[in-house]
Amino acid sequence: ACGVSHLTKVFGSGEQPVVAVNDVSVAIAPGSFTAVMGPSGSGKSTLMHCMAGLDRPTSGDVYVGADNIARLPEKAVTNVRRDKIGFVFQSFNLLPTLTAEQNIVLPLDLAGRKVDKALFGQVIDSLGLGDRLTHRPSQLSGGQQQRVAVARALVTRPEVIFADEPTGALDRRTGTALLEYLRQCSREQGQTIIMVTHDPLAAAYADRGLMLLDGRIVADLPHPTAEQVLSYLGQAAA
Ligand code: ATP
Ligand code: MG
Repeated sequence: ACGVSHLTKVFGSGEQPVVAVNDVSVAIAPGSFTAVMGPSGSGKSTLMHCMAGLDRPTSGDVYVGADNIARLPEKAVTNVRRDKIGFVFQSFNLLPTLTAEQNIVLPLDLAGRKVDKALFGQVIDSLGLGDRLTHRPSQLSGGQQQRVAVARALVTRPEVIFADEPTGALDRRTGTALLEYLRQCSREQGQTIIMVTHDPLAAAYADRGLMLLDGRIVADLPHPTAEQVLSYLGQAAA
């Protein structure tokens, strides 16, 4: 479904450039559920932004389906994003003047698409947002804002869903409901999920675990268990 080849992203130039992603190559199978883990600053968000066409790599290729979006002009990248990708930002990026519902359907509005009422209802139910749709972001708790950000990425039923720590602000019960819903999206709808998480229990929902350290993939675990993830994160911290 997507992947990167020799992807490098360098921030800044001159004296102290930061190599956030360092020559990463990885192919993500369609319909798979991948967890991306690693210490703070290891390049997880940067990798996701490049994979989703939100940021340009310094070098290397980025595939979404058959398109190498690293080589496409900005307008074409925007089209690929609109048609195929959902993105949950680590910092939510909700528009403060819009209600929860308006935020959630915004990508559909921008694409000139109609709301799929059944899907909308399913997403709202599974995230427990039914009684918060008319609230603005400032009237919502952190976890509610995060769930609105997740809903916005799901209502277009994108081929590929990138979620940057989607359970970070959620309690265990709400987080588990979201993880189960994401797993259902991959298993039943064939959607591809790529999720950053610091939580070993969340990672255990994925069928693959990628460990990042200093901008490189240092481990690629099939069916990661919480114990495995803990031990890897422990090694990375040491
Ligand atoms: P966290 O778990 O804290 O979210 P992360 O693994 O997502 O961390 P990134 O946000 O990808 O890490 O950052 C990787 C490195 O790139 C860090 O050293 C960071 O300071 C640097 N970096 C990220 N974005 C920028 C930017 N826009 N300009 C300069 N440096 C940046
Ligand atoms: Mg991050």
